[in-house]
Amino acid sequence: MASIAAAQVQEVRSITRIERIGAHSHIRGLGLDDSLEPRAVSQGMVGQKMARKAAGVILQMIREGKIAGRAVLLAGQPGTGKTAIAMGLAQALGPDTPFTSMAGSEIFSLEMSKTEALTQAIRKSIGIRIKEESEIIEGEVVEVVVERAAGGGGARVGRLTLKTTDMETNYDMGAKMIDSLLKEKVQAGDVITIDKATGKINKLGRSFARARDYDATGQQARFVQCPEGELQKRKEVVHTVTLHEIDVINSRTHGFLALFSGDTGEIKSEIREQINSKVAEWREEGKAEMIPGVLFIDEAHMLDIECFSYLNRALESETAPVVIMATNRGITRIRGTNYRSPHGIPLDLLDRMIIVPTSPYSHQELREILNIRCEEEDCQMSSDALTVLTRVATETSLRYAIQLITTASLVAKRRKATEVSMEDVKKVYSLFLDEHRSEQFLKEYQDEFMFNDGSGDAPQLM
Ligand code: ATP
Repeated sequence: MASIAAAQVQEVRSITRIERIGAHSHIRGLGLDDSLEPRAVSQGMVGQKMARKAAGVILQMIREGKIAGRAVLLAGQPGTGKTAIAMGLAQALGPDTPFTSMAGSEIFSLEMSKTEALTQAIRKSIGIRIKEESEIIEGEVVEVVVERAAGGGGARVGRLTLKTTDMETNYDMGAKMIDSLLKEKVQAGDVITIDKATGKINKLGRSFARARDYDATGQQARFVQCPEGELQKRKEVVHTVTLHEIDVINSRTHGFLALFSGDTGEIKSEIREQINSKVAEWREEGKAEMIPGVLFIDEAHMLDIECFSYLNRALESETAPVVIMATNRGITRIRGTNYRSPHGIPLDLLDRMIIVPTSPYSHQELREILNIRCEEEDCQMSSDALTVLTRVATETSLRYAIQLITTASLVAKRRKATEVSMEDVKKVYSLFLDEHRSEQFLKEYQDEFMFNDGSGDAPQLM
């Protein structure tokens, strides 16, 4: 492979990010202090202190970047903030560390095999920081000539003679360089820099050698010599791309545009091998640095035995990210087998994981989370309405209570009130069923529904 293109895709990413109020948009970090101790309420995070503290240790491990291929499991009941903690970790790591988030079910696609989907996710989680040297030449202008080319349709041609410490060099200038030169009003005797990569010219001032200077007495005119030393400077340009982005750009059948459409299809293993060896070469030459990031797999129990076995092996590679999984399942069947295991994850994989449990929230913590969500959703809520909503969260679920915030706020708006009252919360509570009441409703009216098996048993979670 002659060259591996590594475009600057980071900028593109930030433009396409659409800011909407999502389930976790109130989370701005892990809410830890400098010694990685969790604050009670900070950066949108409430309670769950042990798990946040554990996440802080993981954060440090990732930041140091020394350990590859660790796997962490966040395990706990639904709505106990597993995803929130993972999102907080992503925020705390900052935009320079790749963080890929996916649901276990996303690997089931018709377009690519499960292992290909996992490989892509893993390679999206490894960043490569590429250092390129752009040469900046600094020197004194000896002569500038800009003229119209004969028969060239009025195109301009230019030549620049530049004196650096020990030699004079002639540069044939392209249109960009000429424009830059004219803009800066460069003339003989000026000291300029030329960025060889972009052709951009910067005027630094007049040459000392040509400027008249006076000694301390102010009498004698003399020439001060052009300062010796570094006249050629090198500037470092750094891009960060992911291994997956390098794969896609260099995969001939897909090319650069596939990065935007996301339609990357399967990538040939030979391409990946070539890229791996090129990256290893760059690292050896000091041109590139590897940034191991994080792959977060939510609903990890949706992966099947093939995926688990693949992950087990992938984690052993030197270029593996830290894999964080989350699940709310207890002892259940491992997909693709008839075996049961804790969280539906094979014991050999579980054995190499660090397991972080999350526990249910106290009444006060629920109130605090709901309060933060009200702020995030721009909803003014009276204190007694928040009390009712907290009770709803305790008796049903935090997620259901969070859903009632915007709906109650719309009800309040309809009666032209600026603040959500207790009545508004009660109204939406009666309008929208939570999971338990929905089940009751089905039991009562089951005969009138289609495909009802009539057993009346509560639905089993997988
Ligand atoms: P599930 O097992 O169902 O996926 P989960 O444990 O991933 O649940 P989350 O989705 O993280 O739960 O939490 C539900 C909602 O509560 C989200 O909007 C989340 O941002 C919020 N939340 C949960 N825990 C906290 C917390 N400690 N501080 C602030 N917000 C939280």
